[in-house]
Amino acid sequence: MSKPIVAIVGRPNVGKSTLFNALAGEKISIVKDHPGVTRDRIYADVTWLTNQFTMIDTGGIEPESKDLMLSHMRQQAEIAIETADVIMFIVDVRQGLVDADFKVADMLRRSGKPIVLVVNKVDNFDKFMPDVYEFYNLGIGDPHPVSASSKLGLGDMLDEVIKFFRPEDMAEEEDERPRIAIVGKPNVGKSSIINKLIGEDRVIVSDIAGTTRDAIDTTVKYHGKEYIFIDTAGLRRKNKITEDLERYSIIRTVTAVERADVVVLVIDASEGVTEQDAKIAGIAHERGKGIIVAVNKWDAIEKDDKTIYKHTNKIKEVLAFMPYAEMIFVSALTGQRLNKLFDLIEQVIQNQNLRIATGVLNEIMTEAVALQQPPSDKGKRLKLFYITQVAVKPPTFVIFVNDKSLMHFSYTRYIENKIREAFGFAGTSLKFFIRERK
Ligand code: GDP
Ligand code: GDP
Repeated sequence: MSKPIVAIVGRPNVGKSTLFNALAGEKISIVKDHPGVTRDRIYADVTWLTNQFTMIDTGGIEPESKDLMLSHMRQQAEIAIETADVIMFIVDVRQGLVDADFKVADMLRRSGKPIVLVVNKVDNFDKFMPDVYEFYNLGIGDPHPVSASSKLGLGDMLDEVIKFFRPEDMAEEEDERPRIAIVGKPNVGKSSIINKLIGEDRVIVSDIAGTTRDAIDTTVKYHGKEYIFIDTAGLRRKNKITEDLERYSIIRTVTAVERADVVVLVIDASEGVTEQDAKIAGIAHERGKGIIVAVNKWDAIEKDDKTIYKHTNKIKEVLAFMPYAEMIFVSALTGQRLNKLFDLIEQVIQNQNLRIATGVLNEIMTEAVALQQPPSDKGKRLKLFYITQVAVKPPTFVIFVNDKSLMHFSYTRYIENKIREAFGFAGTSLKFFIRERK
């Protein structure tokens, strides 16, 4: 399920953070359960009516000097144009129109991307409306008045945003070919892996026309089946993007992961797993994507009989929030095990789409409950009535219980482990919803 990407662009102090927080609500804080997962407020999931989208804030560290402000805004706008389906351009009714707004509006207009012009700090609609009309001068359509801090006008603004979510843009959904995002820090070997795959004569097309986002997609054929690889490596605007590289690569990662079925996280064996790897892994984890950790440059390290074991343990420790991740040791240089990578991708896709019959699930749950008594509190014991699978990608289960507050995280984890013992589900997260039934 690939969600549209909406990017926020605007000068410092117009209220981007405030608006971002108002729209994202508590959603941002979900990530705090998982150590290593990014806590930066760079992206968040937003639900409006029946629509879901991923919002990204292209803002970042803002320059102190006025001279740098315009170039900073141009950068923001470039990132937004490159990655987003819809751009929200935020201006400030209290500061009024400034020169930089005109310049950025020009850039955005020329990109041809859908733009929603948002005029913030309209805390009192009667008083400020005359000033709002002034923003028509930007030539990018109707200004939409909001107050981010008082949460006024946000519904109407979101209606405008979702109007631009066209089914054509989501056409990728109908493309049956699996999409694989290759993600990881710079220099771990992402491009080399893709190039090696291409070098082995498996490629049919690169640059698929008609995709809305400006990503480089490569189709690779293996055993008669086509796979689309999404490359996040190419920082093609390297010369222009001078600051905030990390923010930029996180944004690219989020947008690639969003479109992917399976995420291959590339780690450099010669460097070992790092916190930044965990941050990137967290993006795939949060989104419930299939995940494979590919430890690359395996040729470059000295090995003895314990090397694999040591690397595996260290990775499991740093990526403890995703024990289900598959792992493979490869070399883009020699091509070692790159064929096996395809087999693994295929398995993970199957696991993401696996459906377990309700009868079988309930047998497993009954057995699990008999083996380990559910927790109780103040004389009341948790009862598990029924379990059923409600979705795939990722496999999602609903457990009906007598009292939700008694269902501790650890007991859900226990049930999860029992299901994994029976069916594996390697490489995919599982989601659980707990519902009360009286
Ligand atoms: P950013 O730099 O664009 O991320 O802007 P911030 O979200 O940090 O907001 C800058 C300032 O504007 C803060 O002092 C906010 O409290 C204030 N602000 C944000 N939204 C509103 C609003 O709707 N009305 C008013 N009056 N102030 C706001
Ligand atoms: P990216 O930034 O993640 O796309 O990384 P690149 O593919 O550009 O690779 C970064 C550097 O690592 C280059 O100098 C590659 O030649 C080198 N490299 C990539 N894969 C391997 C590998 O499997 N073994 C060795 N020894 N070097 C590699």
